[in-house]
Amino acid sequence: MGSPCGTIMFRGELGDKGNVVAEGMKPLAGDEITAAFSKRDRKVLKLPRNITEIEWEKITYLSWLHPDGSKWFVVYNPLDELHGLVLEKMETTGSSAKQCSWCATTNAGDRIAQFVVRHALNRSITMGTYVCSSLDCDDYIRGRKFPSIATFSSYPTLEKRVKNLRDNLDNFFIRALF
Ligand SMILES: [Zn+2]
Repeated sequence: MGSPCGTIMFRGELGDKGNVVAEGMKPLAGDEITAAFSKRDRKVLKLPRNITEIEWEKITYLSWLHPDGSKWFVVYNPLDELHGLVLEKMETTGSSAKQCSWCATTNAGDRIAQFVVRHALNRSITMGTYVCSSLDCDDYIRGRKFPSIATFSSYPTLEKRVKNLRDNLDNFFIRALF
């Protein structure tokens, strides 16, 4: 039943009036998460330990840290196809405020870090991006965490924040994958 292997749909993506609503991810099993990664990345992949406890309805993308702390994994569905990327976190960026390039939260520099990903088709190409330092964008846009500095959001509603996050994730994944 449901969608073909490797495909994920967001539940409730269109609301009653056709507007985008801010629901989360369809729950994934471990083998679906594994299948989202390239063969090369599967060699370093460690699945999250608590898959059955993940609150899928509260997240736009799945992210977790490798147990050895060396790399981050992100699973998301650009173009309605599930993909996983392996990111490395560089140093946090100092004290001056910065904006997350995914969720647009402006935060103190120690809560925004540069993450680097290798291009899927050409590993010599790396792409860097400044993102919430624990890849915890969903916590900020869904009101579970607050920036450590006073900020103004250009995206006043949850729907708009999720839409913006998805647009930016789409761009990032497409640039890293194709
Ligand atoms: Zn963010």
